[in-house]
Parts: sequence; C-alpha cells; structure tokens
Amino acid sequence: MKRFSEIEYHRPDLDKVQNTFNGLLEKFDNAPDSAVQEEVITEINDLKAEFQTASSIANVRNSIDSSNTFYESEQEFYDTSEPIFRELNIRFYKSLNNSPFKKQLEGKFGKQIFDIAAVSVRSFGPAVITDMQEENRLGTEYSKLVATAEVEFRGVKYNLAGLEPYKQSTDRATRREASQAEYKWWADNAEKFDTIYDKLVKTRTRIAQKLGYKNFVELGYDRMLRTDYNADAVVQFRKQVLDYVVPLSNQLRERQRERLGLDKLKFYDVPLNYLSGNATPKGDPAWIIENGRKMYAELSSETKEFFDFMMEYDLMDLVNKKNKQAGGYCTHFSQYKSPFIFSNFNGTSHDIDVLTHEAGHAFQCYQSRNNGIEEYLWPTYEACEIHSMSMEFFAWPWMELFFKEDTQKYKFSHLSSAILFLPYGVAVDEFQHVVYENPEMTPAQRNEAWRAIDAKYRPYVDFDGVEYLEKGGLWKRQGHIFRSPFYYIDYCLAQICALQFWGRAQRGDKTAWPDYLTLCKAGGSKSFLDLVKLANLNNPFEPTTVQPVISEVQAWLDKVDDKKL
Ligand SMILES: [Zn+2]
Repeated sequence: MKRFSEIEYHRPDLDKVQNTFNGLLEKFDNAPDSAVQEEVITEINDLKAEFQTASSIANVRNSIDSSNTFYESEQEFYDTSEPIFRELNIRFYKSLNNSPFKKQLEGKFGKQIFDIAAVSVRSFGPAVITDMQEENRLGTEYSKLVATAEVEFRGVKYNLAGLEPYKQSTDRATRREASQAEYKWWADNAEKFDTIYDKLVKTRTRIAQKLGYKNFVELGYDRMLRTDYNADAVVQFRKQVLDYVVPLSNQLRERQRERLGLDKLKFYDVPLNYLSGNATPKGDPAWIIENGRKMYAELSSETKEFFDFMMEYDLMDLVNKKNKQAGGYCTHFSQYKSPFIFSNFNGTSHDIDVLTHEAGHAFQCYQSRNNGIEEYLWPTYEACEIHSMSMEFFAWPWMELFFKEDTQKYKFSHLSSAILFLPYGVAVDEFQHVVYENPEMTPAQRNEAWRAIDAKYRPYVDFDGVEYLEKGGLWKRQGHIFRSPFYYIDYCLAQICALQFWGRAQRGDKTAWPDYLTLCKAGGSKSFLDLVKLANLNNPFEPTTVQPVISEVQAWLDKVDDKKL
C-alpha cells in the first residue's frame, strides 16, 4: 500500500482486458465443476478490481483538479469504456445465472450476487451502449458546468462551495445578496442545464424502451439494484413523510423564524439557524482532522484502526481548492482495499459532517474490504446511507471536541436538519417519477411540476420574488437528478434507519453499536431490507415505522430552549 499521491496510474489496455475477460468467460461456461467456476469468479473479480481501481483513481484526481487535462481525458476514456466493460460483466452475470452449479456457488457466495446478476442483465443490452456513453458524457458536462461556476459576489469571484459561508451570514443583507448572486448564476445558465437535462431524459427513455421497459422509472430502480421494493412501496413511504414529517418540519421552520426574530422566513434566511450564528468548528482543517483522529480512537477499536489507516495513506482530500469539483463523496480503490474521502471544507459545521458522514461510508467499506467479491464491498445506496448517517449520530458524544460552546447548537440543528431534509428528499424523488413518466414534458413544464411538488412538502418556502426560483428552477442544483436518477429516496429511507440508531444510542441501548458494526461488516452481501433486519431496525416502508421515530425526535427537540442558543 502506498500513499494516494504515490500510487501510479496506468490506463487499462481495453483490448487486453476484453481478451482476458472473454477467455475467462469461456472457461467459466465450459467448467466441468463448481470448483473451476469458483476459480474463474475470483479471476474475473481481480480483473474487475484492476479496472475499478484505475477508473476510480482517474475519477478522484479529475475531481480534485478539474482543470487537469490529463485526467480530464482519462475521464473521457472511462465515460466511453465503462459501458464496454459493463457489457463484459453482464455476460458474466448471464453465465453465472445459467450455471449448472448455481446451488454450489450460492452456498459459497450467497444469494445476493445472483439477484444482482438478474437485475443487471435485464437493465442492460448491447443496443444501448452508445446511448449510455451519451448519458455519461452529459452527466460529465453537468458536473463540469457546476464545478467551473464563478459567482460574482461583492466584486469577488467564488465557486459554489466558497459562497456557502456568506449564505449563512448573521447579516441578513449578506445572506440575501449571496443567495441572489448564486441564483443569478443558475438563472444565467438555466438554458444550458435545461438542454442537458432534456437530452438526459430523452436518452434514458430511449434506453428504457430499447430494453423493453415502459419508461425509465422501472429501469431506474433496476439500475439502483433495488431487488426488494418498488415504486409503489416508495409512494407509501412518501405518504408517511407527508403525514408525520411535514408537520414537524413546518413547526421547526416556525421556531427558526421566531428564533431569528423575523416577520417572514425567506429562502435566504433558511441557512441561518441562530441569530448568534451557526455552530462552527473552533479550529482550522488540521485541528479538525486531529480531533477526528481522537474521536475515532475513543469510539471503538475498529474505528481507530480505520482512521489511522486513512491518515497513514493520505486517503482524504478535504479542503476546498480552486477547480475542485463541488460536493463530497467517498469512493474506494479495490486493489488497495482502501476507501477514499473527497470533500470541500468551508469552515462551517459541514466540515464535521464530512468527517462523520463520509467517514461512515469509508468505515463500512473498510469493514467489508475482505468480503471476497466486488459486489459485496458496498450495498445498495439506501443501505450505504445508513452507515454514513448513523455514524453522524454515533459521533455525538465527541461533538464537544469540535464545537465547544456551540455543541448544543450543533446537535439541535443536526437533528432538525435530519427532519427538514426528509420533505425535500421525497420531493426530489417524486419529481423524478413525474419527469420520467412524462418524458415529453418541456423544460417549463418540468419547472412547474417541481414547484407544485416542492410546495406540497415544503409549504413554508418563500422565494421572495426571485423569478428563477418562483418558476421552479431550484432542482437544477441537485446533481443527483442529472447524474444518478432515482438516487435520492435512499437518503430518506436511510435517515429513518439512522434515526432509529440515534434513538437507541440516546436510550443507552448497548446493542446499538454492535448492530451497526454487524451492518457495516455485512457490506453488500445482502439486500436492503435484509440488512435492515440484520441490524435489528424497523423496515421504513412499514406504515408503523416513521411515526414513532419522528415522535422521539420531536420530544428531544421540544426539550431544547432554542431561543437561548
Ligand atoms: Zn452519503
């Protein structure tokens, strides 16, 4: 294992990879017994790990510096070659499902790989490779446009992350101007985003139809490898959010308005939680990371080992820099059995969330690094977000290290924001169902649809006459809608699970952490609902799950005298 910056990058020889893969597939199909097939599975896995690692390194280096033309062209290489690689993998999945030794293989690898294989096979075909390449290209175009955003605010140019602290300013005029400046940029570029999205919707619909789906919705679910729930279950979940979460969320905005002493809570006031300012970390990035090390050392022996590993091999790029892509993520390099964390520190409490949230993902990946096959390193996304969001809560006893006198402020806003996120999250989900069920909608109709859905779940939002927002343009800043369709309800489902861990930890339930650890170790070896069961959590789709979770949170929030914070 080397430090990240010392890992040498080589572009895979695609022809060679294809030949090797084809040879292995032939060996698999002609295997005389399950032992030979097991061997081939391991060899194919190594090949996948090698390709994944190269692709992931290029992707990380490209997102750290989007002006680096070398990794930009490597990114283009993967945009084109990943669908080809995927086709090879799909052929492997077909062979796997047709194996005469399926029973023996299931005994060794478990059932989940076969379920993944089946849904992957049906959601892909050679006829859609060109369309998928176009889809990747459009996604990259979106990211690039957002990453290179230059917003002029009071004579200085900022990228989007750099503007964030001004949007949380305790000075209302600063907040208003910063938000207005940002949305002016979105409005100026609205047509570009509409064009990209329109092409994406049409391309995805074409892909779905070529594969025999009615529209992109079901394909979207299949691509997310959702094997144990469907769009109807999600409708029921959104209803629980509307019934139990929206009322609390409205109350919380009302409390915020009173706390801030405002007549009306405008959209630019929303980021400010307290008149005296939001909770902020009381030190620079190096200090934050050092406290992170202390926290993970105290939390458990497993988290200590993990965080020391991340530090030793330089597997975190955390600070905001020019030309760095927006957002934060956690990825991994299979060959090195190592996770990697990317973020843009900006001096707000977000920096601590990175250290808990993204580190939660990384911790899970590290726990399941020896699960044998690529497919079992990570579970599906709703399950992944349980690891990250729960880690945010398991880290509560150490928040004093970072926030000092602001600790209670931080906890109150953290828990509030978990609630406030849910209505927005389900709106993003519902919007995409409408969009893909009606692919012929015009950009203006899509905006109208967003506005109506958003108003249903977040009735308190006041856009203060900003035309771009009044007309429903807000969703364009949500990258998932462009790059990872239907990847959003995942955060909501996971939040309901994470809040269950929060409640258990609050009640001093000693089984909470061991159950979490079991969940992390299981990685992707089970489906979402099986993982939920394994962790002794209640299934979020069950109509009786959301309400008690929300009541417990409400009881905690009601005990806080937030006007004193
Ligand atoms: Zn996450």
